[in-house]
Amino acid sequence: FNVPAPQNEPVLNYGPNSLERAALKAALQEGRASRTEIPMYIGDKQIFTGKRFEIRPPHDHKHVLAHFYEGDKDTVTQAIDAALAAKHNWENMPWEQRAAIFLKAADLFAGPYRAKINAATMLGQSKNAYQAEIDSACELVDFLRFNVHYMTEIYSQQPPVPTPKGIWNRVEQRPLEGFVFALTPFNFTAIAGNLPASAAMMGNVVVWKPAYPQIYAANVLMQVFLEAGLPPGVINLIYVDGPVAGDVIFSHPDFAGIHFTGSTAVFQNIWQTIGTNIHKYKTYPRIVGETGGKDFVLAHPSADIDVLTTALVRGAFEYQGQKCSAASRAYIPASLWPKLKENLQRDLATIKMGPTEDFENFVNAVITEASFDKLAKYIDEAKANPEVELVAGGNYDKSVGWFIEPTIIKVTDPYYVTMCTELFGPVLTVYVYEDAEFDEMLKVVDKTSPYALTGSIISQDRYAIAKATQELRNAAGNFYINDKPTGAVVGQQPFGGARESGTNDKAGSMINLLRWVSPRTIKETF
Ligand code: GLU
Repeated sequence: FNVPAPQNEPVLNYGPNSLERAALKAALQEGRASRTEIPMYIGDKQIFTGKRFEIRPPHDHKHVLAHFYEGDKDTVTQAIDAALAAKHNWENMPWEQRAAIFLKAADLFAGPYRAKINAATMLGQSKNAYQAEIDSACELVDFLRFNVHYMTEIYSQQPPVPTPKGIWNRVEQRPLEGFVFALTPFNFTAIAGNLPASAAMMGNVVVWKPAYPQIYAANVLMQVFLEAGLPPGVINLIYVDGPVAGDVIFSHPDFAGIHFTGSTAVFQNIWQTIGTNIHKYKTYPRIVGETGGKDFVLAHPSADIDVLTTALVRGAFEYQGQKCSAASRAYIPASLWPKLKENLQRDLATIKMGPTEDFENFVNAVITEASFDKLAKYIDEAKANPEVELVAGGNYDKSVGWFIEPTIIKVTDPYYVTMCTELFGPVLTVYVYEDAEFDEMLKVVDKTSPYALTGSIISQDRYAIAKATQELRNAAGNFYINDKPTGAVVGQQPFGGARESGTNDKAGSMINLLRWVSPRTIKETF
């Protein structure tokens, strides 16, 4: 079968007089004024309950953008029932038909719905236009198209099993026996779309629960999947309190897998619950999760100072540092620090902070008041500590939105709390080391955090690059040489980490799709 060879969706630039900016502005205005009533989607029904909640933009928390309706235990059971009812027809549909649905969804997101999904991501999650574009337009579309490509490879290639005379050995890729639970994060609309879609693509039925700040964009994702022809019940979208949903899902005999992106604590909790309930299931569930990160930038004394500056400013502060991959701890040689400090202060002084609707603003609000309060607390502690230097930023204001200024602190203890703990916000901690201590730093970088998601080495010295690449081989699932540690592109840098960062099943890769099938070996004797 020849599906079109996938290519990364080009990133539009949203220049001041561009057509795409005009379309996005119109979609933002429409979204802001629309006061959408967002239902849950179960089977062929849209569900509105008596529990109605407001959605407000994080950068403008006095404005009511939309309402959603929350479900309860029964809602979860209904979603599972609807998924199981859809299962037979869905998994018996020829896979090219399933592929066509997701390819059509990709075309819809790339074309007629591009402005709408980007506007939803900007309003609901407070992303600027450029961050929304690389997420909810390009990465989402790439996930769908590349995964369809991997899917065709999985179905069309037989694993190399020898077939002696008189025998025909073959392998059939079956969907999992049961339903998959997709639990998606607030920070990427692409991930919210990918987690249910990749499992569904492989013939599975799905119950999908997004993080609450993601509901506004999730509603658009669901509408487009349905418009692309996804049959009712294949993906069921519900908004239910986590522990309530977990109680029903993880004790259900047909629970067959979880596709998760979120916090390490929640994932570990889920893993434990699954372990406790293991005797209840028909099959061992697939557990696939991408969790936290405490991602590093290690500079060697030979580093190009401009490359280093960009890696830190973009790596730490794009999308307010709310990426699992964000640069949040930096190790800088003493000889480079004075110039780097000057560069960082210069660049941060030019960064504008404010609402997403103003295209000049690079930094917008953090996602919730809880996140704001947590970050403000760490910043206050740093300011009060005589051992910590405030290099840039340090202000915050929640009167209109949850705004935290991009903040850089310099510490004298490489194990200071913000060098080790994931903050998920625009705070970068810097440790300055003596140039001769580079080898020692490799050990410090490796053992400082329990995570291993992303990291960068910035160096012009090939021996140093080689050494860092080797010594830090377990410290990051995505390792960057002379670049920021963020912005993995689907099809180019399969994404994921190990240790406490997840099961490293690489989003947007064949490895990931293979988790959603259960192979059957068939031996036929002639
Ligand atoms: N894939 C994204 C990146 O490379 C990060 C995803 C996440 O934050 O979960 O920056």
